[in-house]
This record gives sequence, C-alpha cells and structure tokens, in this order.
Amino acid sequence: MSLPPHWKEVGGEGRVHRVMESTLTARDRVGVQDFVLLENYTSEAAFIENLRRRFGEKLIYTYIGSVLVSVNPYKDLEIYSKAHMERYRGVSFYEISPHIYAVSDNTYRAMRTERRDQCILISGESGAGKTEASKKILQYYATTCPVTDHMSTIRDRLLQSNPVLEAFGNAKTLRNDNSSRFGKYMDVQFDFRGAPIGGHILNYLLEKSRVVHQNHGERNFHIFYQLLEGGEQDQLSKLGLERNAQKYHYLVKGCCPRVSSINDKNDWKTVRKALIVIGFHEEEVEDLLNIIASVLHLGNTQFGEGEDGETQITTEPQLTYLSKLLGVDGPALREALTHKKLTAKGEEMKSPLSFEQAVAARDALAKAVYGRAFTWLVAKINQSLAFKDEVYNSSKGSSSVIGLLDIYGFEVFQHNSFEQFCINYCNEKLQQLFIKLTLKSEQEEYEAEGITWEPVKYFDNKIICDLVEEKHKGFISILDEECLRPGEPSDISFLEKLEDTLGGHAHFVTHKLANGKTRKAVGREEFRLIHYAGEVNYTVNGFLDKNTDLLYRNLKEVICQSDNQILSQCFHREEVTTQKRPETAATQFKNSLAKLIEILMSKEPSYVRCIKPNDAKQSGRFDEALVRHQVKYLGLMENLRVRRAGFAYRRRYEAFLQRYKSLCPGTWPNWQGRLADGVAALVQHLGYKPEEYKLGKTKIFIRFPKTLFTTEDALEA
Ligand code: ATP
Ligand code: MG
Repeated sequence: MSLPPHWKEVGGEGRVHRVMESTLTARDRVGVQDFVLLENYTSEAAFIENLRRRFGEKLIYTYIGSVLVSVNPYKDLEIYSKAHMERYRGVSFYEISPHIYAVSDNTYRAMRTERRDQCILISGESGAGKTEASKKILQYYATTCPVTDHMSTIRDRLLQSNPVLEAFGNAKTLRNDNSSRFGKYMDVQFDFRGAPIGGHILNYLLEKSRVVHQNHGERNFHIFYQLLEGGEQDQLSKLGLERNAQKYHYLVKGCCPRVSSINDKNDWKTVRKALIVIGFHEEEVEDLLNIIASVLHLGNTQFGEGEDGETQITTEPQLTYLSKLLGVDGPALREALTHKKLTAKGEEMKSPLSFEQAVAARDALAKAVYGRAFTWLVAKINQSLAFKDEVYNSSKGSSSVIGLLDIYGFEVFQHNSFEQFCINYCNEKLQQLFIKLTLKSEQEEYEAEGITWEPVKYFDNKIICDLVEEKHKGFISILDEECLRPGEPSDISFLEKLEDTLGGHAHFVTHKLANGKTRKAVGREEFRLIHYAGEVNYTVNGFLDKNTDLLYRNLKEVICQSDNQILSQCFHREEVTTQKRPETAATQFKNSLAKLIEILMSKEPSYVRCIKPNDAKQSGRFDEALVRHQVKYLGLMENLRVRRAGFAYRRRYEAFLQRYKSLCPGTWPNWQGRLADGVAALVQHLGYKPEEYKLGKTKIFIRFPKTLFTTEDALEA
C-alpha cells in the first residue's frame, strides 16, 4: 500500500493511521505524540488524559521534547521485532511515532556524528519498565550495529551479562516479579565504525537485607530458587542441598517459593549458558555455587543454649557443610559464629555472644558473603567485557561510549528506612543533574541559534542535596559521626542530633519540629524529608546498624583464610589488620553517586521516564491516581514547563520547508534560495505573527502548538 508522503505507518502490525512527521492530527483519539504540543501544557489533568488516550490505543510512548515517556503495557505489543528496528534506523525523531528505538537510534547517531559520549538515563518506580527498556536499547544496538567475528563475542557477552546479573540481583517483590534490587550503570563502547567493542558495569547498593529476610509475598534473589529447581541432582548432593526451597529458612520468609510468571528451571539453564558465554571457568562457577549454597546453610544454622548457659550451634550438619563450602576451618567458624573478640587495654579477649547477637552475626555473614560475591561477579563480567585494544587492532582514542543507567526511582512506602533514604537521595542527585543538563542544553541551543535566552523558573533541589551531603553538618555526616561516637549511640540519639543540627532547615521535619511545616503527622521515631518530588517520612530505627553494616572481626578473620577463590578475593587480610574504620554504607553510596554524576556530566544525556499504569501487573488497566503520583515524582510537569517555557517546537529549516512548502506559491515546488529566507517567506505567507516564532541560524522556533496545528490543518485542506 503506498501512502502519501506525510503518512506513516505506526502502531501494531497491519494498523495504519495517520501520523505526520511533526504532529498527530488524529489528536482527538490518540492525543499528541509530544507533550509540548499540548495546548494546556501546565494542566496535569490534560497531561494524564493524553497519556491515557494513547495508552488506550496501545501507544505507550510519548515525548516531552526529546524525553521519552513510556507506560508499561504489561503485555507483548509486538513492536520490538527486527522490522521495527529497521524502521527506526537513521530516521529522525519527529518523522516517526515515538519509540524506545527512536531514542536508541538518535543517541547512537549523535555519538557517531558528534563524536560525543552519550548516556541514556532510565528512571521510574519499581515495575515501571526500566530494565526492559534498557534491554531493548541493548538489543537494538546488538541487532543494528555493524559487527565482525571478534565483536560478536563482545556483543554476545554484553547481552548475556543481563540474565546473570538478574539471577543474582533481581527478585520477586510485591511490585515486580523481576525487580532489580541494585542500581546499574552500563557503558557500551563503540569503535570508530560504530561497532560494539566493549562494556563496563557499575553497580549500586544491592539490597543485601533480602538475603536473610523477605516481606510477605516476596522472594529471595532468583539464583537460589534457580539452583534448587534446575541444578543437577549430583550437584545438589555435593552442595548438601535438597530440591525443595521450603527447607531453607532464608527462602521461606515471604511464603512465596513459586511464582507463576517465573520458570526457575529454564532460567537456570539460561544462566548456566550465559556464564559460559561470558567466559567463567568451571572452577569459578563451582566456587560461586558453593557460596550460594553456603548462604542457604547459614540460614539453617540454629542456635541454642548450652549447659554452661552460653550460646551454641545446635545444627551440626549445617556446620559441616558450611565449613566445607566456605572453605574454612570448622572449629574456627563455630567459634566465630558464637563469640566476639574484644580488645581491652591492649589485650585480646573473647566474649560469648547472646542468642540474638549470634543470630545477627550469622545473618551479617550471609549478607556480607552474598553482597561481596555479587560485587565480584560484576568485576568478573567487566573483565570479560573489557575493551581489548590488541584484539581489534583499532586505536583507543577513536572509540565512544553510550552509557545506560537503570536505577531505582523515587520510593515511598508505608515504612521507609535507610534503603529508601539512599534511593531517594540518589533521585535528588539525578534530578539535580537533570536540571543542570536540561537547562544547560536549552540555553546552549538558544545561544547557538542566536536567540535570546529567556530564563526559566524552576525549583532547584540543590538545597536538599546539600541537606543530605554537606560536610560536617549534612545528614550523612551526622549519621557517620553518631555511628563512630564512643559511648552508646542509638537511633534515637541520632534523631536528636539531627534535630539539633538540621532543626531550622525548611526541608527537614521531626515530631518535635513539626509546627505547621507539613500536613501529615510525623511519628516520634521518624523524621521527614521534603523531597523535590514530595514528603517522605523515614523511620529512624535501624539507620545506625545499616550504616555501619558491621561484620564481627573474628568472622572476617575466618573468611579471609578461605580456600574458596572468590571469597579470598572478596575478603582481604588487611581488613582485619588495619585499625582504620571501614567507610560507612551511606558514605560509600555518597561517593559512588558522586562518581556516577561525574561520569554522566561528561556525556550528553537522553531520558526515558517509565510509568507503571496499575499495581496489579495487568495489561490494559490505567489507574489515573497511580499515574498522577508518578507524573509528580518523575517531575514530568516541571520537565514540560521548562521545555515549553521558551518554544513549544523547533525544527531545522530544511525539514520545515520540505514539509510545508506546498502551502506557499513562493516556496513550491522547490525553494532555490537560502533556507532561512525560504522559511521566512513561508511563514509570512501563512500569516505567523512576530510573537509566534523566531528564526535562528538553522532552525525555526515556534512558541505555541496552535500555530503549528493550524499549519498542519492547512496541509489537509
Ligand atoms: P524494578 O525497579 O523493580 O527493577 P523495572 O522498572 O526495572 O522495575 P521491569 O522489570 O523492566 O521494571 O518491568 C516489569 C515487568 O513489566 C516486566 O517483567 C515485563 O513483564 C513488563 N514490561 C515492562 N516493560 C514492558 C514492555 N515494554 N512491553 C511489555 N512488557 C513490559
Ligand atoms: Mg529493574
């Protein structure tokens, strides 16, 4: 079927409807494909209505300028085939309906033509589709970029790193059956021909607490169930495991061993294959499995009271397996799980642990072992993805990078703790970056085009970032200080310190301080941060422990001597010999975020904002209240306002002329003179008023969508 030049095919297979290069005239039904074209752009209701209409038509993607907003369809829309990829190759943004491939392709082309590193920042709450989006982008590059034999290895490893990391870092939660419990930034490196030649992954804040505890309806990390379901019988026997997740304390806390959407057995096969593709040796896989199994045995290690009243291990078989799998001395491990070492007046003393302390020490060991093995895994994958110059015989200088950030969105639960604090702080930092980069690029574009920059009003959340991270008087400094203080610091004494230091801050509230500053109540053991996206109450309980993330020294000493190659690489002797306090969890996170921001700042960003349409993981359901909440937390209205503050629409002269030249006898069929003059003649003929547009060096800027729609309608007439 041949279409008039300005008709394009979009949507599902076989559906053809009219989408024009710049706008959708079928607006009543499918809304506008770019929010900047909304007449009433400050109205949240209009914004959501536009999303809803499009979602109803299975159009899950919409732009805000160059930002892609994506609504999770919770079903396969069949819009990710190779044919779809081809359709988006080399085509510019406005010529085709919005798609994750359009963002992938534009980013790739920008990298190639401008020789500038790019990054794609994907955000949204749990279950909104971030990880799926990042995988689609990676698949797009894997399929459409040129490759040679050597490179196909790297390409395959890039793709296969996903199932491995997901097995160890993802879990079934109430919000998402495949929820990433860590933040991920991945660089994909391309050579001068545009072929993928390497990659590197940075991981952030794995939710280690899940190893030992899961809320009702949730699971531990996938890998445990995969191993139990898929592992061969003799392998399980060697590990001392039974093929029954119900037998393991660490796997039954959430009462949810099986999930209908998950096939652990198949996933195990995928992971095993992926490990081979990535280049793991058999011994390494074995060491890794020993660690996984040892965590399960730790969970089943029980304590009781001995005749002497001291806490002792009551599950002897577990201990035997544990020492074997961890590659450590049995009696030493027994001792370390039930005693702690103290140094008093230069002398070392052993003191028995109470029952609760022993349980806590055991859980701390399980978390530490798993957490560090995860870090090791990422390092190992990075080795295998590393760009090896000699192999490709190309010079390092000519390669460029596209970074993909798939990181937790703003989180607000009934009870919010240290983890939510870190996640929301991370989102404040990303919002800061967004403000800086978006405003900067708007400003740069106006300057490059010779158009007067009109300052935009926006809320600068730097004040909240400072509140958290300022030296000496910021939240993290106060937390660290309290953790290190001699005496008996507690979560409550920490809360009091916060009140003393941050009491006057407009974005910090506690029960005592809440005199009309906020609407909702703050509990006595809570504090509230007024984030850019909204108010969040945090329970202070557990902040100190989670921040110190302490593993008793004698447990560390035992693990340091492990025969397990992975563990011996993860736990260094210096850790126990040095007097230096290890960095706290919050400070580590702060530093790694600062590095991430630095990396992102050096690149040109694109944004994908993901939205979850309902809490039931159901297709076709659009819950307006839930979406409204996310539109707010993602800062989309603010985003649109900034984008629209100046001009709703901008277009290169040649594209504008090409599209509308038929509307003016002077420019039809072909304009021969300077492009700028052609556009000037065209808009004059169309009767544009001076306040409606500006002409830059290479582009026309149109202030209101109405102007554009009128012109579009004229095309139809
Ligand atoms: P989390 O923060 O918990 O990791 P997330 O934002 O990464 O969440 P995803 O795991 O990407 O969420 O998506 C959740 C589920 O939603 C997927 O497992 C898939 O079933 C569905 N989904 C997401 N995006 C799409 C899509 N584009 N098409 C079809 N289904 C999708
Ligand atoms: Mg995810």
